[in-house]
Amino acid sequence: MNMDFYNPVRIHSGKDCFKDFRDYSTYGAKCVIVCGKNSARKSGALADAENGLRACGVEYAVFDEIEPNPLLSTTFEIGAKAREFGADFILGIGGGSPLDAAKAVAVFAANPTYGEQDIFSLPRKAALPLLAVNTTAGTGSEVTPYSVLTDPSAENKRSFAGDDIYPKVAFLDAAYTEKLPLLQTMATGADALCHAIEGRFMKKANLISDAYGDMCIPMLCEGLRRAAKGDLSLEVREMLLYGSSMAGLVISRTGTGFVHSTGYMLTYHHDVPHGQANAYFIADFIMFMGKTHPCRSERIYDLCGVSDGEELFAFLSNLNGMPLDLKLDDSTLSEYADFTIGARNVTNALSAISRDELFDILKKRLG
Ligand code: NAP
Ligand code: FE
Repeated sequence: MNMDFYNPVRIHSGKDCFKDFRDYSTYGAKCVIVCGKNSARKSGALADAENGLRACGVEYAVFDEIEPNPLLSTTFEIGAKAREFGADFILGIGGGSPLDAAKAVAVFAANPTYGEQDIFSLPRKAALPLLAVNTTAGTGSEVTPYSVLTDPSAENKRSFAGDDIYPKVAFLDAAYTEKLPLLQTMATGADALCHAIEGRFMKKANLISDAYGDMCIPMLCEGLRRAAKGDLSLEVREMLLYGSSMAGLVISRTGTGFVHSTGYMLTYHHDVPHGQANAYFIADFIMFMGKTHPCRSERIYDLCGVSDGEELFAFLSNLNGMPLDLKLDDSTLSEYADFTIGARNVTNALSAISRDELFDILKKRLG
C-alpha cells in the first residue's frame, strides 16, 4: 500500500503518431539519431524521422552502428561524436538495444569528463533529452529509467539508471514492428511478459504496478498465442506493443528479478536473444515466489490462462520459432549460479532465492 510511482514519459500511440510529429524544435536545433544497422530503415521509422526533422528545420546526424546487446564502448564513441556535432537532443529508433544505447549516448554527450566506466557509478550532469521510437515490442525501454549495456571488462551485461534517462516522449506505432522476424517477435513478447510477472514479486510492487500488470499480462499472452498460430496482424502487433509498454511501466518502478540476471548469462555467453533467455526461468520464478506469496502466483496463472508453472513453461517452450532447448554442463551452470546470486535483481525480490535453489532451477531447465 505504500506507493512510490513516478513515470514522466509522454506516450503517443497509434497509426502515424511518429510520422506526423512536428514538435522537434521543442528539444533543440540539432538532433543525433541513434539506431541499429537495419531495423530503423526496414521499419520506415528512420525515413519518417528524417522527413519530420527536415520539415522542422532541425539539423541531424545519424549513427546507425548500434549492435544487438549494445557495447558500452560503442555508446561512448557515439557520445563523443554527438558532443562534437553539438547535439541538443537524441532520438533513439529501434528495439531495446538502440533505445538503451541512445540513453547512454545522451549521458556521455552531456558529460565530457566521463570515462566509459563512470556511467555506472559517478554523479552526472543530466543526460540530453531523449525521444524514443520502438521497432520491437518487448523491453519497455521507451518508458523505463534503465539502460542495459554489454561490458566485456565485467564479462556480463551491466545496467545504469536515473530519472534523467526517461525518454521525454515514446512513440508507439505498431506498423514499425510489422517486419520483425518471428523469433524476435516471440522473444521480445516473452521479455515483456517476464517484466510484468517479475514486477509482481519485487519489493517495490504496488497497486499501480499491479494494475498495469493485470492489464498487460492477458494482452501479451493472447498476442503470443495468436502470433504462434501465424496471426501477425496489426491487431496482434498492437497487443504486443501496448502490452510491452505497460509491462515497461511496471518495471520502471519495481525492477526485475532473478529471471533477468540469470538470463544475462545465456545472452552474454551463448548469444541467446534476451527475451528467449528469460523464458527459460520465468515459470520457476513464479513457482519459487509462490511458496511465500501464493495469492500472487495464483493470480499470475489466472492472468496467463494456465493452471500452473509447468503449463506456463510448456506454453513458452512451444512458441513457434522460439525453442528452449539449450543444454549446459553442471560446472557451467554452477558458475552462472555463483555469478548471478549477488545481483540486485535477487535481493530486491519479495523472497530471496539461495545459490543452491538457483542452481537447481538452472539444472532443471538447462542440465
Ligand atoms: P534488439 O536487440 O533491439 O533487436 C534484436 C534484432 O531485431 C536486431 O537485429 C534488430 O535489428 C532487429 N529488429 C528490431 N526491430 C526490427 C524490425 N521492426 N524489423 C526487423 N528487424 C528488427 O532487441 P530487443 O529485445 O528489443 O532489445 C534487447 C535489449 O534490450 C537487450 O540488450 C536487453 O538487455 C535490453 N533490455 C532493456 C530493458 C530496459 O528497461 N532498458 C529491459 C529489458 C531488456 P537492428 O540491429 O538493425 O536494430
Ligand atoms: Fe528484459
